[in-house]
Amino acid sequence: MSNARSVLRALIDLSHDLGRPERDLVILGEGNTSALVDDGTFWVKGSGTQLATVEEDGFVRMYVEPVCALADRVSMTDDEFKEALEAAKADPSQSRRPSTETVLHALALCEAGARFVGHTHPVAVNALMCSLSAEKALSGRLFPDEIVVCGPAPAYIPYADPGLPLAKAVREGFRRFADKWGMPPKTIFIQNHGLIALGETPTQINSITDMAVKTCRILAGTYIFGGPHFLSEEHHQRIFTRPDESYRRQQLKLE
Ligand SMILES: [Zn+2]
Repeated sequence: MSNARSVLRALIDLSHDLGRPERDLVILGEGNTSALVDDGTFWVKGSGTQLATVEEDGFVRMYVEPVCALADRVSMTDDEFKEALEAAKADPSQSRRPSTETVLHALALCEAGARFVGHTHPVAVNALMCSLSAEKALSGRLFPDEIVVCGPAPAYIPYADPGLPLAKAVREGFRRFADKWGMPPKTIFIQNHGLIALGETPTQINSITDMAVKTCRILAGTYIFGGPHFLSEEHHQRIFTRPDESYRRQQLKLE
């Protein structure tokens, strides 16, 4: 028996957590979530549902492989894309349309090794991502806990049209990141769009999202005081590799 039902329950709880109004991560129908099932399928939030209130019928179960394969297509019309997603549903009788960002979610699961994915549009993140300084502001790490929770660096993705073009851009971002760091990213910042957190559990998604939002708030503050002062390469490496930080990551259920 697959773990589909228990994964869906955990994904619904994660979605409600990310949709809590006081967290300021999404409003209305913004954002989407997904989670891997151990039988080659995944759940993804349906189009037109809201994270804060979505329930079982708001998620669509899809086959991972055919959805990932769409990222190899050179181009598709909007209708072809819609039909291909329809054909990749694990339950064809399910009428709900999966999120426009379904391919991006499948790639995060099959290429970047995530088991849960949370995509949000936090105000604090988008204040930065919609600014002229976005890429430069993300080019260094600011404080030790940022590295402990969010990894050695974020993946920065230049703006791309939501849907297939964005999914392809994110895949490029995964590959660039893996070449440089030898691991998948935990955070993806998309210019003029928002944040994606990748993790193994809902707890990780919540923690990574919180820390990414905190980082952006601190970044905004640094520009009042002359701009960010990044950790040196030496300090950065030290935090990332020291054993007590690894222990802390385990205690926080981050690894
Ligand atoms: Zn989005």
